[in-house]
Amino acid sequence: MNRGASVLVVESEGVVGGSSRLAGGQIMGAGSRVQACGGLRGQSRRFVSALYVAEYSGPSSPQSSVDSVTSQVPQSTWLADLGVQFYGQLFYSGDEAVPRDHVPETHGAGIINVLETHMPRQGRSISP
Ligand SMILES: Cc1cc2nc3c(=O)[nH]c(=O)nc-3n(C[C@H](O)[C@H](O)[C@H](O)COP(=O)(O)OP(=O)(O)OC[C@H]3O[C@@H](n4cnc5c(N)ncnc54)[C@H](O)[C@@H]3O)c2cc1C
Repeated sequence: MNRGASVLVVESEGVVGGSSRLAGGQIMGAGSRVQACGGLRGQSRRFVSALYVAEYSGPSSPQSSVDSVTSQVPQSTWLADLGVQFYGQLFYSGDEAVPRDHVPETHGAGIINVLETHMPRQGRSISP
């Protein structure tokens, strides 16, 4: 996820995070380490992207659904490597056929806290 982009975080509140801090932080994806460890088959990104379009987005935004599913495993892996603790099993978020949600033990707030801690290490800061 470190691809040299310059990111500006703009925050009107005393703490960063907004809705993300309130969220469960569940990240849906296919082809992750957790899925591989759990022996889940038929979880290719193409397969899950098709299901995601059918179940959640409808035909109006198929590419954004594919992009979303494709990017979520690298994101959750990157977050785990930064220190976000994910449960070692997958969860259902709706009525999907197999569980695909990666759930952080500390919810959305835990993701934000790890990112906030990580930013100074990368030489970046958030100006109040
Ligand atoms: C209870 C709950 C549970 C959820 N669970 C999940 C989940 O498990 N998985 C999932 O994928 N999604 C979940 N969501 C949805 C998810 O939280 C949101 O889609 C996501 O947080 C949106 O991120 P964002 O960066 O667009 O907005 P936010 O995280 O809300 O960030 C916007 C930020 O901008 C700031 N801001 C607003 N106006 C201004 C301004 N004029 N100037 C400066 N700053 C401003 C706000 O203070 C806020 O910090 C959940 C949401 C809720 C409420």
